[in-house]
Amino acid sequence: MLEVKNVSKSYRSNTVLTDVSFHLEQGECLGLIGESGSGKSTIAKLILALDRSDSGQIIVNNVDFSQLKGRELRKARRHVQVVFQDPSASLNPKLPVWKSVIEPLENYPEASPSFLKEVRNEKRKMAEILFEKAGLQSGLLDRYPHQLSGGQRQRVAIARGISLQPNLLIFDEPTSNLDVSIQAQILNLLKDLKSEINMSYLFISHDIATVQYISERIAVLKEGRLVDLFKTKDLFSADRHPYTKELIDAALE
Ligand code: ADP
Ligand code: MG
Repeated sequence: MLEVKNVSKSYRSNTVLTDVSFHLEQGECLGLIGESGSGKSTIAKLILALDRSDSGQIIVNNVDFSQLKGRELRKARRHVQVVFQDPSASLNPKLPVWKSVIEPLENYPEASPSFLKEVRNEKRKMAEILFEKAGLQSGLLDRYPHQLSGGQRQRVAIARGISLQPNLLIFDEPTSNLDVSIQAQILNLLKDLKSEINMSYLFISHDIATVQYISERIAVLKEGRLVDLFKTKDLFSADRHPYTKELIDAALE
């Protein structure tokens, strides 16, 4: 459902991505790991069409995003959503959180997620259902972002991320700011949601254990090049790229 083909990107003289290619199957979670600065977030940005690649293609559901403009791009964007490390990026501090959760539905009134069909046009009810899906109590609907814990805020961002029932949900280090026990709860929530709503995930993290837990396959980025791509069960196999082994060793230290 997603195909990234030979994508390269530079900012001025700084080459950030070089000839990156990978694909994602429907319903699959692909983990993307790499050190800070290796270009992970740039890949996310390009897939979200928040920025353009210098060359290569990004194909979502057989549509080449890099060729789209204006209304067509806007329409296609609905199918790809993102959850960032810092939920403040998507939550308006001046709004009660339930309003932020349904904001994408207001931007795309033509969207009709199957799990919201029965409450269409009833905004607060839609927020209630999304809250429930994200494991949030309805008593939190009227809170403001600063009145929630970090884990709750990230659940709100997840509720917002699934509100349009996207084909692809990108997570950019979604649990890096959370305590370990909260991280585990969020990862379990994401696993459940993926099978329930039938989304594909691109899960970006610098933490191998996290990616190992949630992904079916793992891609390794080093200085903007994809150096390894394998099934998660082969993480410790002898034919892993030396750099992947380095990352594993560093994680085990
Ligand atoms: P990661 O997410 O793996 O930490 P990033 O994709 O954020 O890496 O960044 C990779 C490199 O691209 C960094 O050197 C960063 O400074 C550079 N970079 C990212 N975005 C921009 C931008 N908009 N302008 C200039 N340089 C950028
Ligand atoms: Mg990043």
